[in-house]
Amino acid sequence: MPDANATAENAGALALFSGGQDSTTCLAWALARFPHVETIGFDYGQRHRVELDRRAGLREGLARISPLWKERLGEDHTISIEALGAISETALTRDVEIAFNATGLPNTFVPGRNIVFLTFAAALCYRRGLSHIVAGMCETDYSGYPDCRNETIRAVEAALALGMDRTFAIHTPLMWIDKAATWALAEELGGEALVQLIRDETHTCYLGERGARFDWGYGCGECPACRLRAAGWERYVAGRFGG
Ligand code: ZN
Repeated sequence: MPDANATAENAGALALFSGGQDSTTCLAWALARFPHVETIGFDYGQRHRVELDRRAGLREGLARISPLWKERLGEDHTISIEALGAISETALTRDVEIAFNATGLPNTFVPGRNIVFLTFAAALCYRRGLSHIVAGMCETDYSGYPDCRNETIRAVEAALALGMDRTFAIHTPLMWIDKAATWALAEELGGEALVQLIRDETHTCYLGERGARFDWGYGCGECPACRLRAAGWERYVAGRFGG
């Protein structure tokens, strides 16, 4: 972690913020650590924009949880990368069923998406004088997405440092933890208020459903994203209350 060497000028961070559980937890993690945190969201023609629509309310919710977080939370940037959607034939951008292809990857996988996101994030950091990128990639629950692997992230970090001749530290606080631990991390960072904000205001469902309310939040309850979120919540609650 290069935090110890950070100066006032370069200690700012940019958090990849989609409006989901993982990226909201990561934004709270960044707000707890860095004196200035800006956010970036990507619009690439996702079939459901529900997640992106949650972002403004979540930022306001985080600012309400802590005066320090409010002070640290900087500008929000929304970047349109429609080309990514145009070249990706996946369940998230086209109206097809979620399934697993011959390689074992879910067809929700947008090839190279995280590499593109991190590259845009670093370019924005360069302009804004920010040295830290905080992102929610996770190898534990990664569903086989190769661009979520730590090895991929470290390689991108090295390529960006070479290609921009400036160092951007990419922090991935969720890399080695599962969904239950992600809920526990939210509790550690912002107490019950943050757990409630994430439960009620973040969006995870692949189908874009917000009709039904479950213990773990809103969703369809059936798609892989809802099932993963529900299972994590159940393990988190079991661990917290002993069963
Ligand atoms: Zn769902």
